[in-house]
Amino acid sequence: MDFITRLFGGERPAPVRHEVGITVQVVSDTAPQAPDVGPVTPTPDGRGWVLNPRAPFHITLTATTGEVASAVRAILDDPEAHSRDKERSLLGLLLRHNFRVAELDVYLSTWRPRLEADVARRLEAHPEWVSASEPDRADIHAEVEAAALEGLPLRPRDDLRVLFMDQPADLTADDVLLSRYPFDALHLYLEHGGVACPILRIPADDFRRPAFDQLVELGLACRGTELDLEAVLETLTLKDMTDLVNDLDHPRFTRRAKATAWLLELDDLRARIGSRVSLRERFQLCGLPADVGPIDPAALARAWRWGEQVCRLLEETWYGNRAAMAQLAYEDALTWKVALADDCCPACVESVGKQVVSRSSGALTSPVPAHLGCTCRLDVARMR
Ligand SMILES: [Zn+2]
Repeated sequence: MDFITRLFGGERPAPVRHEVGITVQVVSDTAPQAPDVGPVTPTPDGRGWVLNPRAPFHITLTATTGEVASAVRAILDDPEAHSRDKERSLLGLLLRHNFRVAELDVYLSTWRPRLEADVARRLEAHPEWVSASEPDRADIHAEVEAAALEGLPLRPRDDLRVLFMDQPADLTADDVLLSRYPFDALHLYLEHGGVACPILRIPADDFRRPAFDQLVELGLACRGTELDLEAVLETLTLKDMTDLVNDLDHPRFTRRAKATAWLLELDDLRARIGSRVSLRERFQLCGLPADVGPIDPAALARAWRWGEQVCRLLEETWYGNRAAMAQLAYEDALTWKVALADDCCPACVESVGKQVVSRSSGALTSPVPAHLGCTCRLDVARMR
């Protein structure tokens, strides 16, 4: 049983014991199932909404309404939904309502200048940078950027690159598309890169088939007789291409480009391909309609990936809060210790890793989650 299921899945969690001093085992009957994180509350300046005012780490939404904040909270609180489904529902809300997460804005604006300065310094010091060609410079830049990200002491997630580099300048760019197409259909379209996607084979028994059928209905994909024949040929091997014209006198196909050019001259190429492969199960994504305005699907896909990271951070932090609060709810426990997560960050090792929470010190507040996406946890340490 995983950690979260253990905490919130209907069974009483088992306290973790550490060998510190004299350790005694305590099994509590008082741990509540769902800690009370407090009601969604406006911030004092009226510009935002705190989703969890009684939790150790607040999550504050800005640029939005109380209704949207409550809807986000309801998704995060849903005890039945799987975390992936929650992240998807959150992404739908984020993209439709373009709310901002204040704690993330602070994080990015605090660390971005240091990150950019570090990248610049590393590029300047790189022995190959000055003489490198443009493609090599792109490669060096990516290498240096990864190292600079790795050097940040506070790292909410592994894929920080997306969080820092793919943050969209304008989250409203997709609003016209979201008003026209279902979210799941657009998600599938962008996930595959839009019109840049090669032809995909999606057989009838593929679980994605209904979703691709829907893309065709929406005009975002085509198949069968509408497919671009040159693109279909790209999916065939040289042998497949040769087999298409076995009954004809043709030059030996040794290079794809030449074979493709020769085949495209045939009047009955579509029928020949259709007799060998099912064009019905092949799908090609179309460009977005002109009347939605100039939208770059690749940029939009990056923005959505960024949104996915944000929603994952929200979800992780929500669980971190609830886990810490559930641990503190052991009324007969005396002390708790931060259990550093292997995948958390140097800042946690430095600042919260050695902290002990003691009942004798009065008010009980957890030092974790220490930041958005902190995966450190609080454990009952039971020291005397
Ligand atoms: Zn941490």
